[in-house]
Amino acid sequence: MALRKNMTADPTKLTITEAAVRFREGTLTPSALTEAHLAAIAQRDGDIHAYLSVFADEARKDAAAADRRFREGAAGSALDGMPIAVKDNILVSGKPATAGSRILESYVASYDATVIAKLKAEGAIILGKTNLDEFAMGASTEHSAFGPTRNPRDLTRVPGGSSGGSAAAVAADLCAAALGSDTGGSVRQPAAFCGVTGLKPTYGRVSRSGLIAMASSLDQIGPLAKCTEDAEIVFNAIAGHDPLDATTHEKPPIPNSPWPGRQSSISGLRVGLPKEYFGEGLDPRIRESAERASEALRKEGATISEVSLPHTPHALAVYYLLMPSEVSANLARFDGIRYGASILRDSRPTPYRAEGSGSGFQIPDSRKDFWDVYFETRRQFFGDEVKRRIMLGTFALSSGYYDAYYGRAQQVRALIQRDFTRVFTDVDVLLTPTSPVLPFRFGERLEDPLAMYLADIYTVSANLAGVPGLVLPFGAVEEDGRMLPVGLQLMGAPFAENTLFSVGKALEAANRA
Ligand code: GLN
Repeated sequence: MALRKNMTADPTKLTITEAAVRFREGTLTPSALTEAHLAAIAQRDGDIHAYLSVFADEARKDAAAADRRFREGAAGSALDGMPIAVKDNILVSGKPATAGSRILESYVASYDATVIAKLKAEGAIILGKTNLDEFAMGASTEHSAFGPTRNPRDLTRVPGGSSGGSAAAVAADLCAAALGSDTGGSVRQPAAFCGVTGLKPTYGRVSRSGLIAMASSLDQIGPLAKCTEDAEIVFNAIAGHDPLDATTHEKPPIPNSPWPGRQSSISGLRVGLPKEYFGEGLDPRIRESAERASEALRKEGATISEVSLPHTPHALAVYYLLMPSEVSANLARFDGIRYGASILRDSRPTPYRAEGSGSGFQIPDSRKDFWDVYFETRRQFFGDEVKRRIMLGTFALSSGYYDAYYGRAQQVRALIQRDFTRVFTDVDVLLTPTSPVLPFRFGERLEDPLAMYLADIYTVSANLAGVPGLVLPFGAVEEDGRMLPVGLQLMGAPFAENTLFSVGKALEAANRA
């Protein structure tokens, strides 16, 4: 067990494993831990703004129930009594789910996402919902309609995105662990920026039922945590087949690797450094950190080699065609009639529905027709970045351009997938940077969407290929008197999460030494 030595009296700093041990010893209770997190939120979240909503009363009630289970010896799971934060695009029954958007500001979820039902079944406590770029589109949380989150390591910098609230909540010890979603890097890049551990699971390992969809062929829900072992615990709790998400696997295939995962020694592990991930534009300090990590793995008995994923240079272009295309389809449901905000509700106290008329809707005279409701609602309540992507996607899918853009991008995606299939016959794991840059300052990239998109260069391929990616902090860099974390990424073959966890633990041990 990778127990961190933690002699401090502050229970919010404990890992899940450490807290679970104390719950069982009787030296800490779920209530005491929950109170400590609530106090930390009250004290520090005014500056950080990781949370959009906090469920103090319910968390206290759930914690008291967990206390009882421990007193009666009835607690089972490692997550029993653990306060967890949830990105605000994942549904928790009876709670708001804004997706960081004005259009869903007043929306209340009517059911639990499958991942939430699973966490609750393990006894986890849902502490609150965390900030994100609107509909998970962004890399800094600056696109949240409710104001940005600040990076706890340096409040003048962004926490990354789009799961910036979840990453910041973990980094600032405002929860034990958190859930995020990752479509092109949104768990991994904020994990790197905030100095925490984040996993994007294999496509199809975690149910997306109850996740507000961004780009369905790319979306995965993943944990953000204080260490690899904690990420593994949360992942194991949320993974698995779900009849409500047809892309989840009944029985995950065993990865075809001669190196057996889930073992403590990494001797014999084959590590690949894809040369396309170490080219121009990479901050040399991040490169140096990756070199130190590969040296540490070599000392532990791994073999290191340079490999190639030749279609990598096209990944960003492919992602920024396929993702907006799927976004334009998924966001069509926000029509001013079914969910959240609407010009109809805006102009009348209640939705204006005519009794007995065929469709059930009567548009006020001034609003003329259905299309006015649709266009006006979307014009008023979607932010600029969301509109930009809907327009790009609609264009890419329009007749006459479909083959040239969407169709071509699909073909290149297949080549990118093939690169990964090939490389994982030669190596067990890939070691790469997560982001080419360190956490940047507010506003630095906001006016230049292309510069923001470039931050995703090392993360989008894992989504396009469907492979898992684990990000963990490895070293730190001093800038303007602050220590900024560097996050490295490990990618593995589909379903090889266990391999990633083993390597992650080896790197953590090396980082501590
Ligand atoms: N930064 C990427 C984007 O803006 C990733 C988003 C995500 O993974 N949800 O699309």
